[in-house]
Amino acid sequence: MIMLDRWIDAGRRAWLPCPSCSFAGPLWLLGSDLWWVWVQCPTCLTRVWINTHASHGGPRPAELPDVWPG
Ligand SMILES: [Zn+2]
Repeated sequence: MIMLDRWIDAGRRAWLPCPSCSFAGPLWLLGSDLWWVWVQCPTCLTRVWINTHASHGGPRPAELPDVWPG
């Protein structure tokens, strides 16, 4: 399961799985905007925007958030 509710902490990390290499996190937090977080994977260095709104929108807990290369 993915814990989307804890995508930010004080250390500029985002506890999300990497959509590219499946690294389990934390990803480096580069920025955020409302439901969106701009993260970089420390393992494969992929940068992606991740939509965390999926965690607020309804019963889709097993689904990955929408991601695409930035
Ligand atoms: Zn990665």
